[in-house]
Amino acid sequence: MADLRNCSRCGRVYGYVGKPICSYCVEEEEDEFKKVKDYLYDYPGSTVQEVSAATGVDGEKIMRFLREERLQISSENTNMLLECEKCGRPINMGRFCQNCKDELKASLRKEFGLDKHNEPSAENRAKHQRDQMYTATRRK
Ligand SMILES: [Zn+2]
Ligand SMILES: [Zn+2]
Repeated sequence: MADLRNCSRCGRVYGYVGKPICSYCVEEEEDEFKKVKDYLYDYPGSTVQEVSAATGVDGEKIMRFLREERLQISSENTNMLLECEKCGRPINMGRFCQNCKDELKASLRKEFGLDKHNEPSAENRAKHQRDQMYTATRRK
């Protein structure tokens, strides 16, 4: 027997198949996604508000499409701001800007001690360079 639930979007009773919304709403979301994508293709410089007004798709939903990385803002979409959750810088997709992604990666590496053995050797190199410069100036 089918697992009957109420769709969390339209409230209709539907046979549950692993999604919180009914198949009708799934289709509708696909439609909305396509509308937004088409609109952005035609008007790449649009803001979320403009896209929302033109397509009738909820702004929150457009942001969700972006967060889920289903939609990507092209470089011309400078008005369409998605903010890095860490530093607030405008980004094209996902949750963090490249900077914060790199930082996150670096701090993870440090945490696991992968960077530690590199530090002394870098210091030695700098000292060695100073010695060389000293010799070089003396030789004049
Ligand atoms: Zn529904
Ligand atoms: Zn950031």
